[in-house]
Amino acid sequence: MAHCIFSQVPVGVPISTDSSFRISVLKTCHDKSWTSGIPVVNLKSENARSRSRFVVCMSVQQPRKPKVTVSPLTLEDAKEPPLHLYKSNEPYTATIVSVETIVGPTAPTEACHIVIDHGGNLPHWEGQSYGIIPPGENPKMPGSPQNVRHYAIASSRYGDYFDGKTASLCVGRVVYYDPETGKEEPSKKGACSNYLCDSKPGDKIQVTGPYGKMMILPVDDPNATHIMIATGTGVAPYRGYLRRMFMEDIPTFRFGGLAWLFLGVANSDSLLYDDELSKYLQDYPDNFRYNRALSREQRNKSGGRMYVHDKIEEYSDEIFKLLDSGAHIYFCGLKGMMPGIQDTLERIAKEKGESWDEKLSQLKKNGQWHIAVY
Ligand code: NAP
Repeated sequence: MAHCIFSQVPVGVPISTDSSFRISVLKTCHDKSWTSGIPVVNLKSENARSRSRFVVCMSVQQPRKPKVTVSPLTLEDAKEPPLHLYKSNEPYTATIVSVETIVGPTAPTEACHIVIDHGGNLPHWEGQSYGIIPPGENPKMPGSPQNVRHYAIASSRYGDYFDGKTASLCVGRVVYYDPETGKEEPSKKGACSNYLCDSKPGDKIQVTGPYGKMMILPVDDPNATHIMIATGTGVAPYRGYLRRMFMEDIPTFRFGGLAWLFLGVANSDSLLYDDELSKYLQDYPDNFRYNRALSREQRNKSGGRMYVHDKIEEYSDEIFKLLDSGAHIYFCGLKGMMPGIQDTLERIAKEKGESWDEKLSQLKKNGQWHIAVY
């Protein structure tokens, strides 16, 4: 399904990279103001200021929005994804660049956006994960290090700063509350999530990987449709996909398809990367759709909490048509979301007189079905 993101207008075409433009984008991307702060290049005045760098031509294809220059473009050259470059017995020592809480005060779970510097030594493709080894002893095997914990990478291969030297993780802080007293039980809190969310810039962390082929964004067809379903921090890989599709200037990947994100979170304070995602919606309305299920703020048609499967049901006709035309569908987040989604899809297939089992096995066979739930 093709969605054109280009407009046919008489314009000036930049024939070299404007480094000052790139720097200003990097600066504004660094903080939350990026979405409102992205510089909109005024082609008229840009032409007047640096006419020598533009050739004027009529009716050429020009992306509607300026994108960020990325490097090194040699990261596009590999034919296979990088896998297991660093293992648990010899992890890579990376450095924390920043840790930022990205949910509001009424979110029931804290989520942190954590940028790590790997100096370009841990390359990955969009949709892969890293392993993190928290410090200390494995409580189940005294004397041994902690087990590796896997986190989906939330940045594209170019990292948060578009130079291929960093990567980011989206980590939900796992805290346990005693159901009877309602008090937090520190002995049961998640060792790795708390370690990561409490880390400080400059801290060293042990990283393994990258891992996984299942969730890698297929890039063979730039006009493909991608339906992405997430609960909470499971949005991480999609942030990487969407940066590649809509934010980054990659000469060999001009996305003209459809990316459709369904995100389930507890409430509006729990929405993750919402500014960035809303900006894509504004800039690429023909190529991006974004539906939010706020479980504790919205009600489904039966009066219960609104979950992602309720949203899927709402758009089931379109989703089925897109799947029949070859769309990829991805699931990332809580394992518990899958039964609700499977039941919904099965029921809808039945209503249409189709067999969900047959459809599912076909989707899997065609490589359209991608799943990473925990
Ligand atoms: P969360 O805040 O616990 O939940 C997110 C949303 O999912 C909430 O709206 C929650 O609703 C809803 N939910 C709960 N049970 C559900 C169900 N059975 N069906 C559909 N929706 C349901 O999420 P989180 O703390 O971010 O955790 C997300 C999960 O993703 C974790 O298990 C994590 O391990 C996993 N994950 C993370 C990554 C990563 O790299 N960060 C990657 C892949 C998977 P309520 O209001 O009912 O709670």
